[in-house]
Amino acid sequence: MKANTMTTTPMDDTEVARQALRQANKRRESFMKIREVRAVGLRGATPAGGWSDELKREDSVHTLVAVHTDDGLVGIGSVFTSEALVRAALEVLRPLFEGENALEPERVSEKLHRATFWLGRGGTVTHAIGGIDMALWDILGQATGQPVGRLLGGMWRDRVKPYASLLMDEPEPLSEKLRMVAEQGFRAFKIGWGPFGRHDSRKDEEIVKAARAAIGPDAMLMVDAGGSDGRWANGYKWARNTAHMLADYGVSWFEEPLKPDALEDFVSLRAASPVPISGGEVFTRRQAFMPWIEARAFDIVQPDVTKVGGLSEQRRIGWCAHDHGVRVIPHGWNTAIGLAADLQFAAAMPDTDLVEYISGSAYVDDVVQTEWKLDEDGMLAIPSEPGLGIQLDPVALAKYADSDFLLKP
Ligand SMILES: [Mg+2]
Repeated sequence: MKANTMTTTPMDDTEVARQALRQANKRRESFMKIREVRAVGLRGATPAGGWSDELKREDSVHTLVAVHTDDGLVGIGSVFTSEALVRAALEVLRPLFEGENALEPERVSEKLHRATFWLGRGGTVTHAIGGIDMALWDILGQATGQPVGRLLGGMWRDRVKPYASLLMDEPEPLSEKLRMVAEQGFRAFKIGWGPFGRHDSRKDEEIVKAARAAIGPDAMLMVDAGGSDGRWANGYKWARNTAHMLADYGVSWFEEPLKPDALEDFVSLRAASPVPISGGEVFTRRQAFMPWIEARAFDIVQPDVTKVGGLSEQRRIGWCAHDHGVRVIPHGWNTAIGLAADLQFAAAMPDTDLVEYISGSAYVDDVVQTEWKLDEDGMLAIPSEPGLGIQLDPVALAKYADSDFLLKP
């Protein structure tokens, strides 16, 4: 004991601390330049969906973004809009991001938001900034050897419950699909859009009843009306009556039961509904969420990381919701990159223990080397590797996009 203390004098300790500080200062000066940002749309396996007319497999609505740095690191982001729009936004943003420090996601993203205040704010430009932001967090994680969740403030959990998200159908085929997905190990399910709210209340109840019977009494069941459908015609009274029907089937939340901008009706519905009310997937920018969170329009808010402006924006929305007693459950389900960002986000939020998972999408399951695997409790591990923690699979990706966007500029 004594011999050990003899080898380290108080002066030695001070010198060690000084050296550490000098090294830290050196790191603080470190600068990794953004060299180029490339975008590529995914095509050929676009999942069914659509906001008024059905999407086709060849439609481009999910676009990947690669941020290339001068020292060779590449970060990946995902944007929920078409390739043409993202490319146009990148042209607007290019003079602002070129040569910027790739190790400072929040500052760089905020600079891009401020500089485009008069141009495309809240639309495509915000979506595209989100893709860059996600990629910059990925780069910072790779450069520091840390998962993004830790860089966002710390890891509250190492696994989350993914809920399988399925389009609604007539009771029989929907039941069959749910049983197939349940066999894969999922314990939580969301059914949405399709015929629900588009025929009559009897049909709505038949669908929910069949879904509950298919998954059993213990699994979580959520219902998404899809009020952001361009042709959505129901209003407050339909939503209130339907919420009562859903309570009879133990539904965990009722999503987008109203047109997405009907703030006052959402506030009334949340107060009257026996089941939690959720929404917010179409909003962009943290500032747009604030009045909804402050008015208590939702029990659960669902920012989409591929739309809102990336992880920097999503994190601030998440904490704003948290501090107002509103749950946050992310919506970036549409590609493996969006899912990976949501997993890191969920890791870094105290109460976010669920993420949306679209089942059977090539853009989630095929384009990465990572295998999304549920454990025996139906939970998904949050990747602990640096950055977003996943690797794109260039060969698989080449089926859906020109994977050259990953090559060094
Ligand atoms: Mg939804």
